[in-house]
Parts: sequence; structure tokens; C-alpha cells
Amino acid sequence: MSSTDFDIVIAGAGMVGASAAKALASNGFRVALVEAMPAREIDSSSQNYDLRVSAISPASRAILEGLGVWQQLQRERVCYYEQMFIWHQHGQASIAFDAVDLARDNLGAIAENRLLQQCLYRVCDKQAGIEWFMPDSVEELLVNQASGVELRLASGTYLNAGLLIAADGRDSPTRKLAGIEVRKGRYQQTAIVANVDTELPHRHTAWQKFLATGPLAFLPLANGQSSIVWSCDDEFAQQIIAADDADFCAALGEAFEYKLGAVTGSSARMSFPLGWHSCERWLKHRVLLIGDAAHGVHPLAGQGLNLGFSDVDLLANLLTDRSDLTLQKQLRRYERRRKSETWLATMGFSGLKWIYGLQQKPLTGLRNLGMRLVDQAPSLKREIMRKAIQNLT
Ligand SMILES: Cc1cc2nc3c(=O)[nH]c(=O)nc-3n(C[C@H](O)[C@H](O)[C@H](O)COP(=O)(O)OP(=O)(O)OC[C@H]3O[C@@H](n4cnc5c(N)ncnc54)[C@H](O)[C@@H]3O)c2cc1C
Repeated sequence: MSSTDFDIVIAGAGMVGASAAKALASNGFRVALVEAMPAREIDSSSQNYDLRVSAISPASRAILEGLGVWQQLQRERVCYYEQMFIWHQHGQASIAFDAVDLARDNLGAIAENRLLQQCLYRVCDKQAGIEWFMPDSVEELLVNQASGVELRLASGTYLNAGLLIAADGRDSPTRKLAGIEVRKGRYQQTAIVANVDTELPHRHTAWQKFLATGPLAFLPLANGQSSIVWSCDDEFAQQIIAADDADFCAALGEAFEYKLGAVTGSSARMSFPLGWHSCERWLKHRVLLIGDAAHGVHPLAGQGLNLGFSDVDLLANLLTDRSDLTLQKQLRRYERRRKSETWLATMGFSGLKWIYGLQQKPLTGLRNLGMRLVDQAPSLKREIMRKAIQNLT
């Protein structure tokens, strides 16, 4: 085997691609990990928390523990949440979820993306069988057939492999090179994220309010701040982004109905246009999609990354040794299972966004009734919680 022959090439070492590299190299595969961005050492002692955070479900935490990543992250910092409170602005209805009802300590944890990414890089660095190509990217797919792939990187390096995994995010250049079609839709919404100080403590609770203009989440951070994700209609988002800090804090406190008292301070703000996407095929000959390259959901349920970790988990369970790479049926099995599960999630979250955006009278009454019924039905609530903590499987 020459140095440019691998069992698997992974394009994209984001949180999903790096975890796939670790999982598959642990199974004995020789993996080339290609990442476009240069590595950055992160100062985790910094008091500035990352503006990008993710709600990590217990199922994803177990996957990350299996990879030896969670143990490191926990030593850095994470914030577990024990309750979740959801309500709607036009109605008295709300739903409260509590870990105690599932006899658990927590319903999940809020982790900073850059710390999680750094811990993943560290475990990949120590894992035998992973070779990094960074910064580099897949420039040309020369061959893609049942026997394998041949590709050229931007650096001019040629790689051969039995499988090319596209883990290069929602605009996936590798998906495009393979000619895999993607269906997309815009929600006409923008998500604004920031870390804010509040008058009252967050009580280790994840809060979500559904406004007519979109959902607003307050997620607890280990330093007592809350990470907010305010998804709003594009036009309103522009006003919020342009506001000065005092006006932003005032508007945010009011939109959140002062559940944690006044918002007393804010970090800088970032914004993300929101949309969904899905792919008809997740496998074309020897190119396979995982993570956001394969699916994209509304962040209202905090599941995009969790779905990506479930992709990795199933793939690593199906490809357990090098002879599996010759079995196209394992790759098809992965495609069938993950495609149907994530399609349901994509449509489910779009449906939720639509239901909570309704403003016509008889329908809002029905929605409030539905929320009240769920809140008063302990077994249904437990079932919803169980689904959420198991990444909807
Ligand atoms: C506001 C917001 C809040 C969210 N909150 C949550 C949450 O609470 N919980 C949750 O589960 N999910 C959440 N998500 C979704 C989550 O952020 C994504 O699903 C997740 O980051 C996808 O990870 P990924 O590794 O698949 O893709 P990415 O994070 O996009 O990583 C792709 C990687 O590929 C690299 N790359 C790109 N092109 C190339 C190339 N040509 N060659 C090589 N490398 C390349 C990139 O540099 C990058 O490192 C949220 C999303 C948003 C927008």
C-alpha cells in the first residue's frame, strides 16, 4: 500500500467528520482526514465562552464517551440541564419536562462547539491509523465506482480509497463533486446567537419560547450566563442585529417575558440564515454522506449535530473491519436507516415551526389545547423525552 492509499477518506473534520475518523480508525481502518481550515489551538481557560454551543443529548454523550471525547470535555467545561420549559406567547399553554420523571440526573448538556472540536482533534491526533491532510480539500473526484474512489486534493496529492465520506457540512463541495442532488428550503428566518447575563440564575433549565416570529431559546452555560438562539423572521432579525447592546438586551428580556429577570449584558452577536435540506441519495457508488452534508434541520429542537453523531454511530457499528468495505450492502443499510430517520426529523421540525407560527384563532386554540394535553399526560411526556434524549430513534 502506498502512502496515498487508504481504506477511507473523510472530507471535513468538523465535529461529525472528526468523530467518524476516530470511530472508524478504532475499528482498524486506515483513514485520511481532509480538512479545509487550518488547525487552531483553543485557549479553554479563556473566560470568553464560545458563541456557538450545542445541546448534546444523552445518546450523543454516550457515543462521545465511547470515543474518549466526553471525558476530556467534562474536564474543560460543560453545563448539564435538568429541566426544559417550553411555552408559547399567544396562550397560556406550556410544557415542562424534568429529568426526574425519567429517573435521570439530566436531560442533556450544553457544550461549546470549539471545545468539543478541540477534544475531538486531540483524540484523533492520538489515534493510530489517522493521517491528517490539513489545510487541504478534495478538488477533483477522478474515479467513483464500486471498487473505490480516486481523488485529487487542492495540494496536488492523489488519494485512493475504498470509500469517500463527505462530512463537509451543509454546502458539501464533495457531495457536489459526486453529483448527489440536494433538496433545500429556506425558512425566511435568521438565528441570532449570543451569550447573555441575566438578573436571575438559569436554574440548569433549557428554556424555549415560541413567538409568532420564531422560537427563542435560553440555554444554560457553566459560568451562569445563558446562550441564546433567537430565530426570527429575516426582516425583524436585521433590526435586532443592528440594535445597540442596551436596546438588544431590552428587546430580548421583553421577548423572553423576563423569565430570568432583565437581560443585563450581552456578548457580541452572530447570525445564521436558517433552512432545511435533505438528499435523495446518501450513497453514490463509493461516496457516502454523513452529518450536515446529508441533512439539515431547524435548530429549534437542537438536534442537527445529534443526528450527525447518530450517523457516525450506525456507520461504525456496520463497518467493523476492513472486509466490510467490500460489502456494499452495509453502506446501503446505513443509507436506508439514517435517511428515513432524519427525513422524519426534518419534516417534524418544519411542522413544529409551522404549528408554532400559526396565528389564526381556531388553530391557536387547538395548539394550546394540544400543549396542555401533553403537559398533563405524564406517559406521553416521558415518551417525548425518551425520543429526544435518544436522538429521535
Ligand atoms: C444557530 C444554530 C444552533 C444549533 N444548535 C444545535 C444544538 O443545540 N444541537 C445540535 O445537535 N445541533 C445544533 N445545530 C446544528 C449543528 O451546528 C450542525 O448540525 C453541526 O455543526 C454539523 O456538523 P458537521 O460536522 O456535519 O458540519 P460542519 O460543522 O459544517 O463541519 C464541516 C467541516 O468541513 C470542512 N470543509 C468544508 N468544505 C471542505 C472541503 N471542501 N474539504 C475539506 N473540508 C471541508 C469545514 O471547514 C468544517 O470543518 C445548530 C445550528 C445552528 C445554525
